[in-house]
Amino acid sequence: LVHQAEKPAWLRARAPSTGANEDTRALVRRHALHTVCEEAACPNIGECWSKRHATVMILGSVCTRACAFCNVATGRPDALDPQEPDRLAEAVLELGLRHVVITSVDRDDLPDGGARQFVRCIERVRAVSPTTTIEILTPDFRNKTGAIETVADARPDVFNHNLETVPRLYATVRPGARYYHSLRLLDQAKNRHPEIFTKSGIMLGLGEERAEVLQVMDDLRVAGVDFLTIGQYLRPTPRHHPVARYAPPGEFAEYERVARAKGFRMVSASPLTRSSYHAEQDFAALVRS
Ligand code: SF4
Ligand code: SF4
Repeated sequence: LVHQAEKPAWLRARAPSTGANEDTRALVRRHALHTVCEEAACPNIGECWSKRHATVMILGSVCTRACAFCNVATGRPDALDPQEPDRLAEAVLELGLRHVVITSVDRDDLPDGGARQFVRCIERVRAVSPTTTIEILTPDFRNKTGAIETVADARPDVFNHNLETVPRLYATVRPGARYYHSLRLLDQAKNRHPEIFTKSGIMLGLGEERAEVLQVMDDLRVAGVDFLTIGQYLRPTPRHHPVARYAPPGEFAEYERVARAKGFRMVSASPLTRSSYHAEQDFAALVRS
C-alpha cells in the first residue's frame, strides 16, 4: 500500500495567467484540438501557454488504456478525424512554432494503432511550416506490426516514447504496457534511422528505488536513447496512484549528473520537468551537442 506524501513548497509556485495564455487557449479551441497540457492537468500550463507552447494530443481525447498516473479519459475512443492533421498544421503555423511536440492517446482499437495519423500530421506540418522541427511522443504500438517503422519512416526530428517508470512497477502503474516492448520500440526507431534523436522519460515518486532508476538509465543507453527527462509524478485526482514521495530538487540534479556521465546527449531533470517542457530549447541544445 502506498500512502500519499504531502506536497512540498517547491511544487506549489505557478506562473500567473496572462493574455498570451488566453490567446493560446482560444486558438486551441478554434482549431478543435486537444492538448496534453489540459488533459493531463500539467502544472506548467501557465508558463508554457503564456509562451504559446502547447503540446497537441492527436487521435481524439479518449484513450483505450488506463495508466494509474494519467488524467486522460479512458473508454470508447472517438472516430478517427481525417481533418485533424490539417487543423494541427494550421495551429502550428498560427502559433509560429519553431518546434512542435505531437502526442496522442493510445489507440489499441485501430489496426495500425494510429501510426498513419502520426505520419499524416508530420507531413501536413512539414508542408505548411517546413522549418518547424517535429517531435513526436508516441504510444507503445504494442501488437501493431509495422507501426513503429511506419512512424519512423516519416522522419520526425525527435522520436519520444516514455518508459514512465521502472519495470517492477509496470503491473500497477502501466498495466497495458510492457517495459521491454517500450525499450525495444526506442531501439527499433534508432536502428531504422540513426539520425533521428530518440528521447524517453520517467517520473519519480511512484515507489521506485534508486538502483532501479539507474538500471532504467543503463537500459536506455543500450537502446541508444539520446535524451532523458526525469520529472516528479503529481497525482491528478484522488482516484489516481498516490505520490509515494516528493524527490527534492537536489536529487534530480544528482540524477542529471549521473545520466550525463552515462552518455545521454541531453538530460532534463527537475521536479516540474515533463516530456514536452522546454522541448524547443532542449532540442536546439541537442542539435548543437
Ligand atoms: Fe503542455 Fe508540456 Fe508545457 Fe505541460 S510541459 S504545459 S504538457 S507543453
Ligand atoms: Fe494516459 Fe498514455 Fe496511459 Fe493513455 S496510454 S492512459 S494517454 S499515459
